[in-house]
Amino acid sequence: MIKFLDLYKINERHRKEIDERIKKVLDSGWYLLGKENDEFCNNFAKFCGAKYAVGVANGLDALKLAIMALGFKNGDEILVPSNTYIASILAISECDCKPVLVEPDINTYNINHALIEAKITDKTKAVLVVHLYGQAVDMTNIKAVAEKYNLKIIEDAAQAHGASHKGIKTGNLGDIAGFSFYPGKNLGCLGDGGAVTTNNEELYNKVKALRNYGSHKKYENLYIGLNSRLDEIQAAVLDVKLKYLNNDNDYRRKIAKYYIENIKNEKIILPNYNDEHVYHIFAVRTEKRDELQNYLKENGIETLIHYPIPPHKQVCYKGILGDSYPISEEIHRTILSMPISPVITMEEAENVVKVLNNY
Ligand SMILES: *Cc1c(COP(=O)(O)O)cnc(C)c1O
Repeated sequence: MIKFLDLYKINERHRKEIDERIKKVLDSGWYLLGKENDEFCNNFAKFCGAKYAVGVANGLDALKLAIMALGFKNGDEILVPSNTYIASILAISECDCKPVLVEPDINTYNINHALIEAKITDKTKAVLVVHLYGQAVDMTNIKAVAEKYNLKIIEDAAQAHGASHKGIKTGNLGDIAGFSFYPGKNLGCLGDGGAVTTNNEELYNKVKALRNYGSHKKYENLYIGLNSRLDEIQAAVLDVKLKYLNNDNDYRRKIAKYYIENIKNEKIILPNYNDEHVYHIFAVRTEKRDELQNYLKENGIETLIHYPIPPHKQVCYKGILGDSYPISEEIHRTILSMPISPVITMEEAENVVKVLNNY
């Protein structure tokens, strides 16, 4: 069986280093907001090319904290792609803001900049761009629209650690960004974790307080905040794994390139190759998606669907997000994710290609 993602194998590569760093935390007797968090956040900010990073509890909170720091609330409108993972949209709703969906470009799966302007009202405050599947959004036109209408740019970089656009890394492409370190992400910890990055000192300080009950100084509360901290054990694990992230992303690109050059089947639509993409997900499209998924399963290949139900069709959002997003629906109907990871072997990738070409 070729697994979609083998988390055990991914972390086992660093077993010794991870064990040592966890032991160090245990021995220190200090478990929250300590040296490990500081060190990892410094290194992660550097990695992104951003001035600041704040460790938080998960990716959803990272996005929420970004919106809270910008001060948006009370029905402020935030534009967001209609085919994103639900968390991007939940973050907006949980801040009491209104998610306004914009259809994606069917070739990149990222927000279609040409459709943004038509959705702007006098309540629009920001565009939440999502670097979906690991490909950074083309920011050139988005930045122009944002400037014209005085909108902030929030990045959902949960799937795109290390991806870049014109050489600038995610986490440094907008005003503020949220990352997730959920175990299956390109940089993942051993539980939940996340980070906010920004170049803006004021936003940085505000997020630091907001994730800690809205407090800079113990028992003095400036803001109505959250308890959303990255714990020392997760920070230590992430600091180990960050050193290998560039190599892991290179390997993902190698597999993606191999798939793109060798999968030859007219029934399967492949993504474009882009060497700034980090291929968190290698998604193909096909007319009879469920049939292809079953065929692959029968041939020992595990695949997943990112995502089976579009946000506007989720029960919790019924009648709230609008009901006509044909491009998004087409993507949700036909998309299928092939196995890709830093630990898939070349032989396994060859097998995936062979099975797909025989379909
Ligand atoms: C994983 C993910 C999130 C949420 O991150 P969590 O750490 O699971 O809360 C947000 N947005 C996108 C696009 C994601 O893939």
